[in-house]
Amino acid sequence: MDSLERMIQEQIEARGVRTPAVLEAIRKVPRDRFVPPELRTEAYEDWPLPIGCGQTISQPYMVAVMTEAVLPTGARSILEIGTGSGYQTAILAKLIPQVYTIERLPELLHGAQRTLIELEINNVHFKTGDGTLGWQTHAPFDRILIAAAAPGLPRKLLLGQLSEDGVAVVPVSDDAVGGWQTLYRVRKVNGELQREDLGGCRFVPLIGEEGYQSGDARRSEGR
Ligand code: SAM
Repeated sequence: MDSLERMIQEQIEARGVRTPAVLEAIRKVPRDRFVPPELRTEAYEDWPLPIGCGQTISQPYMVAVMTEAVLPTGARSILEIGTGSGYQTAILAKLIPQVYTIERLPELLHGAQRTLIELEINNVHFKTGDGTLGWQTHAPFDRILIAAAAPGLPRKLLLGQLSEDGVAVVPVSDDAVGGWQTLYRVRKVNGELQREDLGGCRFVPLIGEEGYQSGDARRSEGR
């Protein structure tokens, strides 16, 4: 068994993410292409890894959980906030026709863009900026995935740019600074947001208008 297959079986399937389409999408994306060359030997390990600029590529299991949480049946578009290395973006692009991704740090966005072009993934639209403001010209989105921890539900973004009956996934901090967070799946039903607790998680902070003012707290990620 190669390291990708072992990652899928031991870290993802064994912990309960079993949706075939999600596993198939993960199987198609070489995670070693999204980490710095000196960390390639750790690319399929069970933890997040630094990708520069103080940011991380998410733990493989967390990427799987978030992908399953926004289960793409019927979804035509997704807004991803926090492109990072582009690994989660690439998996979403295998499942959803149009992927819109926003990263606040241009260096990371350009790196992710390069990797996706090399992998011939062509259904992704990239933007640098504060993702909490969304991407009005392409809204509403059937799905929104936020890959950094918000201080509370970003209600303006979700009410303004998520489709009716759309689904979002967002980590929200349990306390003011640092510490653990809860991953929520949010549905927009009749113009109201309904949230469901998917368990504890740990992400870097979401920085922006509906996020934190500065990136002081967490650096690690996972569950
Ligand atoms: N899922 C990504 C991957 O697979 O590599 C990792 C995402 S990383 C944990 C979170 C990213 O969110 C960081 O790259 C950070 O710069 C970005 N970020 C934080 N606040 C943001 C905001 N308001 N808008 C866009 N990106 C933001």
